Order: sequence, then structure tokens, then C-alpha cells
Amino acid sequence: MKSESRLPQINDHYDVVIVGAGITGAGIFRDLALHGLKVLIIDKKDFSSQTSQSSSKMLHGGIRYLENFDFALVWEALHEKNFWIKRAPHLCYEDSFYLPIFKNSARPLWMVKIGLWLYDFLSSFKNSPHRILDREQTLNQIPGLKSKGLSGAGVYYDAVMDDVKITLEVLYDGLQEKGCEALNYVSMTSFDNNGDTNTLSLRDEITGNTKTVTCRETVFATGPFTDRLMAELGSIPWTPKLLPSKGSHLWLKKEKIGINHPMVLNDKDGRVIFVIPHEEATLVGTTEVSSDSDFFDMKISDGEIDYLLKHLNDYFPSANISKDDIISSFAGIRPLVMEGDSSDKGKTSRVHKTFQPYHNLHVILGGKYTTFRVMGQDISRSICSTFKISYNSSLSMSALRKRSIVSAFQERRRVLSRERVERIIKEEYVRTKDDLMTRRLGLQNTGGWKFEPSLDQFLSDYKDLLEELQ
Ligand SMILES: Cc1cc2nc3c(=O)[nH]c(=O)nc-3n(C[C@H](O)[C@H](O)[C@H](O)COP(=O)(O)OP(=O)(O)OC[C@H]3O[C@@H](n4cnc5c(N)ncnc54)[C@H](O)[C@@H]3O)c2cc1C
Repeated sequence: MKSESRLPQINDHYDVVIVGAGITGAGIFRDLALHGLKVLIIDKKDFSSQTSQSSSKMLHGGIRYLENFDFALVWEALHEKNFWIKRAPHLCYEDSFYLPIFKNSARPLWMVKIGLWLYDFLSSFKNSPHRILDREQTLNQIPGLKSKGLSGAGVYYDAVMDDVKITLEVLYDGLQEKGCEALNYVSMTSFDNNGDTNTLSLRDEITGNTKTVTCRETVFATGPFTDRLMAELGSIPWTPKLLPSKGSHLWLKKEKIGINHPMVLNDKDGRVIFVIPHEEATLVGTTEVSSDSDFFDMKISDGEIDYLLKHLNDYFPSANISKDDIISSFAGIRPLVMEGDSSDKGKTSRVHKTFQPYHNLHVILGGKYTTFRVMGQDISRSICSTFKISYNSSLSMSALRKRSIVSAFQERRRVLSRERVERIIKEEYVRTKDDLMTRRLGLQNTGGWKFEPSLDQFLSDYKDLLEELQ
């Protein structure tokens, strides 16, 4: 049975235990593993199955954060983006992003030009240079875009990425180091700080197995779940710090919007909608709304679907996009950290914050996917110093050593063999059908992986393997 728990086989003690295996936890795991520490990382669900699979799938500087004068964040994010484009071209690629400007847009074209120059400047001119298009050029390059009131467009460069595969490959890389372990579907149910040692009770969510482990240092990288986790644990000194902001996306049939490059639509209400063509479907999002529902496995609301379709039809008047054109949808919560009493989610900084309720318990919140490598460095540095290891911030710049068996973009049309599916299940920590179909095969919502000859055939050919999964 592939759903068997590996929990009973792990060690009783680790140097560090990381709770939460989204991109933030995965980045810290890899960095500490590369420094020779024995690290265990656990996640209550599958790796990268929560916020880190629900992003807009961009590595970007964050053009809109220029308005908040968050120059340091934009600088850092642009450098990280350009680093990953070079370091992991199989997981992300540069693309031109079109920002159409209308007579009633909040900012005129000349102002956009200054903003885009600043964006290139903050990248140390490593971005491919921006361009400004006039009205005619814009209409030629974005077929179907509404012409009424159009002044032109700014074009700048960011990257499109596969969020799930990056987290997985960062984890797999850390796992190349001896004594490091990653467990999915294992939650932390209690935490005790006994001075220099922490004791964690772990439970396998599929089998119910339990185990207690001890460690010298613990990291909570539980993103938007942190305040609730702290409330459940009860014993850790903590006041709520998050400003949960829900963002949602739709995968639409590709033929509905005939664009070849991503677009950024700036709504009058200040919200931004990204329209990003992928190989088989177009991704449209996001919204920023408050949410009180259970943060695990979030779903988009009807109101958000209506909002996205209304705006899309406004920008592409002859496209007539309806709910029938939706292939699938997903949603996630940004783990933004409250700043004073501000509740403006668009303006709340994306800079990450770290906290230390005990000297050997580190909590990291906020940040962006794009900056994950540098986000955890404060924590890694501090943990390395307790172990008297000299911290080397460039270790995490090394190449990722183990690739996913089905890679991010280019391989999706390949025919799957039984041997490949078996290898994925065995080598890539697959425990449920959803792990296999959504994250390891990269089907993730797009319905986009072209099964050859068909999905039904796949399900029937591999019925025996799928039956072994949860
Ligand atoms: C809609 C949206 C769009 C975004 N788009 C972008 C973008 O395009 N580019 C960009 O750079 N950033 C983007 N972001 C931000 C980025 O996605 C997040 O900052 C990042 O994914 C957060 O990762 P994380 O690891 O902190 O959280 P998560 O990925 O949520 O990981 C936390 C993990 O903790 C686990 N956990 C919780 N409780 C427990 C427990 N008790 N025991 C064990 N495990 C537990 C959860 O299962 C989860 O897997 C976007 C965010 C949203 C919401």
C-alpha cells in the first residue's frame, strides 16, 4: 500500500524540525540541509498543496508594489526572478507582460513609462527592456482587446513558473543530503518547549500513526494557517498577526481569449487581474477579499467568479466568456502580516516577517513565492549559529539536483509509460490520487495535460496503481 506511513521509521531526534512544506518551509529545509544539519520537514497535507499551489504562477518583482514605494522588495524580487530564470529554466520562463492603458486609467501612459523604467532600473537592467506601444500597436498585438478609450500599453518582462514543481524540486534537493526527511500528510498536534529541546507530537493524517520527536530548533512555516495553529496549540505565547487575504483564479478554455502573452488589467477599484496564457489553458486571477472559512483546500466563491468574468468580458467585449468556459478554479490565502491597524490588503507589504516566541522556535510569515530563497535566510543564519556552523548565503544558489519525473512545461504531451507512473509513485512521495494527478503529473486544474490517447484510457490502464492510493 503506497499510502503507508513512513512516520514509524523516522529518527527520534533531529537538529531541526520544520512544520509546513509549502515553498517557505521547503526553501528553509533545503538551505539548512545544504549546511549539513539533520532536518525533518512535515506537512499536514501534500507538499505544496495549499497556498503554494494557488499562486498566480509568476516569478515577479511586483510592478504594483512600486506604488507602495516598496523598492527594496521589488529590487530583491526582480533579482530573484532573474536568478531563477537562469538557474532553473525548466521551471520558469521569461515572458512579456502587457499593461493596457485607457483614457480613464488611474495612471496615464507617460507615468507608466516612468514606472517601467524604474522597474528595469531596480532589476539592475537585467530585465529585458520595457516597451511602450501606441494604440494601433496595442490592438495589433492583443487581438480582441476593447478599443474604446485605449491609449496604448506598457510592456515589461516577468516570469511564468510552475509553483508546485518548484516547491517539489526544492524539497527533493534538500533530500539529497544525508539524515534529512520529508513527510507529507503528517501534522504536528502538540508542541512543548523544554528549554534547549522542543518536543513535537506528530500524527499521520492517513493512517493515524503517531510519534513523538525531539529537536533542538523548530521552524513554523505554516503560512496562513499559523494564527489558527497557535490558537489550537494554546501553550505558545502568540498574538494573532495575519491579515488573511483570499485570492482566486480560473482556468479558462484557451480559445476564448486569443492572447499569446500575459496581460495585467488594472481595475478602477485598485485590484489587479492577471491573464496568463499557459500551454493548454488561460489562467485568470486574482481577487483580494477577506475570508473566515477554513483555510485548507480553499474554493473560489460565486461572487469572485462573477467578478473575474465581468471584468474579462469588459476588456474583451466580443469574447462572450461564460461559466461554461471555465475548466477549473482554485483559491488560496495570502499570509500577509498586519501592519498597525491597516486593513488595506493591496497596500499591505509583501515583505516577510520572522518571530521567535522561544529562543529555539522560529516563525516565518508573509513574503512572496518569488523571494522564497532569500526569505528564510534570517532563520537559517540564526539556526546555523546555534550549531556553530558558519552560514554561507550562496549555498542555496547551487543547481537543483533532482528533477520531477514529469517536468513543468515541455514534457506535458509525452505519453506516460507504466514504468514512469510506477517511478513517480515510488520516488516522489505520492500517497493519494490527488498527489499523483494534480501535482506530480502537473494536471493541476488545467485539465491541460494532454493524455494520449485519453484520460479515461489512463485511468483504466493504471487502475491497479491508482487503487493502491488514498
Ligand atoms: C491568490 C494568490 C496568488 C499569489 N500569486 C503569487 C505570485 O504569482 N507570485 C509570488 O511570488 N507570490 C504569489 N503569492 C504569494 C505566495 O503564493 C505565498 O507567499 C506562498 O505560497 C506562501 O507559501 P507558504 O509556504 O508560506 O504557505 P503554504 O504554501 O500555505 O504552506 C504552509 C503549509 O503548512 C501546512 N500546515 C498547516 N498547519 C500544519 C500543521 N499543524 N502541521 C503540519 N503542517 C501544517 C499546510 O498544509 C501548508 O502546506 C500569491 C498568493 C495568493 C494567495
